[in-house]
Amino acid sequence: MPAAGIWGSTGVDTVSLMHGRAQDCMECRQCECHCPQHIEITRHLREVSEKFDGFKGW
Ligand code: SF4
Repeated sequence: MPAAGIWGSTGVDTVSLMHGRAQDCMECRQCECHCPQHIEITRHLREVSEKFDGFKGW
């Protein structure tokens, strides 16, 4: 299924309004020490920000 089928053209905007954008991460790393899967959250958010910030929809 294409990504547009999951999020739609306004879905990204809705998620951003409710949860902020990846670029909002301050890289304080307070979340990483709580993650039981040891996910490198700051690194992944940086990657998401590089790919999707400024994204205007499909
Ligand atoms: S590093 Fe984690 S806790 Fe800190 S701003 Fe980014 S997402 Fe939030």
